[in-house]
Parts: sequence; structure tokens; C-alpha cells
Amino acid sequence: MNFTNPFCDADGDKLREECGVFGAIGAADASAVTALGLHALQHRGQEAAGICSFDGTEFFQRRGNGHVAENFSSQDAIAELPGTMAAGHVRYSTTGGAGLRNVQPLYADLASGGFSVAHNGNISNAATLRQALVEKGAIFQSTSDTEVIIHLVATSRYPTMIDRLIDALRMIEGAYSLVVMTPEGMIACRDPLGIRPLVMGRLGDATLFASESVAFDISGAEFLRQVEPGEIVRVDHDGNVESLRPFGTHRARPCIFEHVYFSRPDSIFDGRSVYAARKAIGAQLAIENPCDADLVVPVPDSGVPAAIGYAQQSGLPFELGIIRSHYVGRTFIQPSDGARNSGVKRKHNANRGLVEGKRIVLIDDSIVRGTTSLKIVEMMREAGASEVHFRVASPPTAHSCYYGVDTPERSKLLAARMDVEPMREFIQADSLAFVSIAGLYRAVGGIPRNDDAPQFCDACFTGDYPTRLTDLQGAQADDAQLSFGNGTARKNTVASTVS
Ligand code: AMP
Repeated sequence: MNFTNPFCDADGDKLREECGVFGAIGAADASAVTALGLHALQHRGQEAAGICSFDGTEFFQRRGNGHVAENFSSQDAIAELPGTMAAGHVRYSTTGGAGLRNVQPLYADLASGGFSVAHNGNISNAATLRQALVEKGAIFQSTSDTEVIIHLVATSRYPTMIDRLIDALRMIEGAYSLVVMTPEGMIACRDPLGIRPLVMGRLGDATLFASESVAFDISGAEFLRQVEPGEIVRVDHDGNVESLRPFGTHRARPCIFEHVYFSRPDSIFDGRSVYAARKAIGAQLAIENPCDADLVVPVPDSGVPAAIGYAQQSGLPFELGIIRSHYVGRTFIQPSDGARNSGVKRKHNANRGLVEGKRIVLIDDSIVRGTTSLKIVEMMREAGASEVHFRVASPPTAHSCYYGVDTPERSKLLAARMDVEPMREFIQADSLAFVSIAGLYRAVGGIPRNDDAPQFCDACFTGDYPTRLTDLQGAQADDAQLSFGNGTARKNTVASTVS
């Protein structure tokens, strides 16, 4: 394809978005409930936050860069967002799209009235759709893939809003969990494969939607159920709830990385406690890759539940050999390698007295670029550890995610560039081992992976992408092995820029 992909930055790295969504309808203080919910979803995106509300007549919005607390903790901020319906979004994107115009919920005045949308996920044919829309005269206000949905709804010829939305969604590939507001009420929907999470709750008479169940706990709301893959839930201002399944039934492929890293451990994802899943992965890791060592040390915080599982399974003592400062954000979100390296030091410090002279098994959830692992291993050695073994509670991350989890372009993934032994050398550990993909499935789902129809989206580990990736087709080759749907492998070309 001969156009510039607006979802890529100048370095050819794709626009990274990790997001959380929340919605409340029928709540006297809908914006306050939404702000609280967004607080609990802060781990899904720290760069910007937004809330849009509706008071029965008008829509109101407030969006800002930074954390939820910086934007929505004052009474004044909430007072700007009146009404019994509100939706919010937390967002993290490191590149070109960092401006306020990309902060969600996005809002537009359509012929049918106001339309607000908050999106978690990534649309894998957004650039292609956008190109076609622009050629027809559409004027885009943002570089967000989500805006494509607004234009598709606006130009659909169906008479009702719900049919226009369904019409738009039929044209979209990839992952989406959406919270939409129109004057008639709220519409929450999840893509047919259910790649990104979306759950439904109740607070008194109010109906809530959120990326994760923790967003309900914070306001004392009850977790009802997940929005099913391919389901559209419509709620009106009288509290009537209607469930639609316009896309038929598909085999769900929820993202397994939500269990590995992304969701909070106190959330329920795909019917299972994330904490329990992570502990089970750690136990499985110990079964597959035991280690002769004195202490099991988690890389905080992401490695903690898996390390508990590893320690319990192996009988080795669990100790906090690394102490984390809670005043530094996620290491991963630093844009340059230099900043990322110093971020690791600012965030983690060795518990010297504990690790000195000890053989340590370090546990982390994943190795992406290898920056964190290398620094942590160095830190353990500097603190006097006699041996440093690394165990990873996921298989090697060898493929980029195109569905809304931030992974760098493929060439920057350590596991895409090397096998396990060179990775071990790179991070300078005495040994390195990963849980197997079969073991991950056993731990998370209690099931063997069905290679013909995998039960999760595990593309970051296997390269088996569950949808087409239209925007990437025809892009320059980087020798990636992609496969689509049912595990049917085919050689394809992947690049992070389309030009
Ligand atoms: P790296 O230093 O690039 O290998 O990053 C690995 C660390 O980043 C691990 O400690 C993970 O917990 C964390 N991590 C893995 N995936 C992500 C992600 N998508 N966003 C933010 N952090 C991540």
C-alpha cells in the first residue's frame, strides 16, 4: 500500500496504545463513579485521561494529559461533568499521538446527535479504512484509530444508531472493547473474538462497564459478568438492558497477556482470578524449569504472584530481594533506551543484606527488550549474589502485538532476535528459562492449547494472529512469520511503517 500509516511514528515504531475504559449510566454522580473507576484502571494507561458526560440534553467533556488524579480529583473537575451518564478512558501512547486531540473519549456531533466513544484495543485495518474515508472527503481531527469508528458511523446509511454502529463494526478488524454514549443511552461492545476485556457491573440502579473488575471494587459496585465476545449491550436511561449478538458466534480468543502482565492481579479476567492464574503460571514454571538456589526473588511488582507460585511449588523461600520505589512509573513507558535504563535504577534497588552470597532465582512475568532483566541481574550481582538465575512466567515474546498491548516493533524484541542461550548471555544470567506455551495454557486455562483453534490470542508468543492485519500487508519485509485465524501459517511481511 502506498500511503503513510498514521499509526506509526517517525522511527517506524508503531503507535503504542494501552488503554482502559469505563462507563456508568443511571448514576446520580456518574462522573465521580467514572473517575474512581479510572483510578483503578490507571495501570492500563498513564499518559492521559478523559471523561465525557451527558445530562439529558448536552454532552460535556474534560480531557487532559497525565494521571487520573491530576485531572479528576477536584470537586470542580467533576462539577464540569454533570449528568447521570458518563464514560471515561485512560490512555498510554508514547509516540506521535500524544496530543490532546487523541485523548479519549472522542466526541462528535453527528446528524443523529452527540456520539462519544472510548476504545481499548487496536483496529488492525484502521489506516486502510481511514485512507478510503479521507479519499471520500472525511476530515480527521486526530491520529487515533478510534476516530475511524466515528466516521464509519457518521457515513453509514442505516436508519438507527445501533444499526449504524453495527454496520461500522462489521468493517473493522482487530481488537475493540468500546463504551459508546449517544443521547439514547450507553452501548458497550466487545469484538467478536473478545481479545480485549470488558466487564459489566451494577451500583444501585446504575449499570457500569469497565475494562477490568477492579474498577467496580473501588466504588463498591457489584461485578455482574463479562461482556461476551461479539456482544453488544445497550442500556437506556430507564435502566433497560438489551443484549445483541449481531456477529454470530466465533471462537473467542481473549488475550493471554492480560493474565500474564496487563490486568491487575485483583481482577477477574475471562472468568478467572488474575492472581490465581499468575501463581499457577509460576508453579508451572517451577515444574518445567526447577533451579538449585537459595531464594526465589520476584522482580516487583509484575513478577510477584508468579514468584509466590514458583516458591510454593519448589519449596524454596520467597524473599523480597529487590525493593521497588512506588513513586516511579512503569519502566517500560520511557521512550528512549537511556531513559529506560535509568528508570530501572530509580525504580528498583537490591536488598543487599538478603541477597549477598546467595544463589537467587529471579522471577519476572516477561522479557520484552531485555533492558529490565539485564539491569536487574547486574543489580543482584553488584549486591553480592553468588548466582543469578532468571525464570520467566511467559514464553519468549517474539512477536509484536497489534491488538492494544504495547510491544515495540519486532526488531526490538529480544526473543525475535535471538534464541534462549544468546538471551541468557545478553542478560548475563547464570541460567535462563521460560514457561512453555503448553504450560502457560495449562496454568491459565487448565486446558491444552488447541493448535488448530487456540483458545486465547497468544500472538505475541506464537505469531498466530487471530485476525487479518490488513494495514501491515504489503509493507516492507522483516521476515516475520505471521499466521491468521485457525493457525494457518503463511509467510507474510510485517513492518511497522507502511509507506
Ligand atoms: P524489557 O525491559 O523491555 O524486557 O521489559 C520487560 C519488563 O516490562 C517486564 O518487567 C514486564 O513486567 C514489563 N512489561 C512487559 N510488557 C509490558 C507492556 N506491554 N507494557 C509495559 N510493561 C511491560
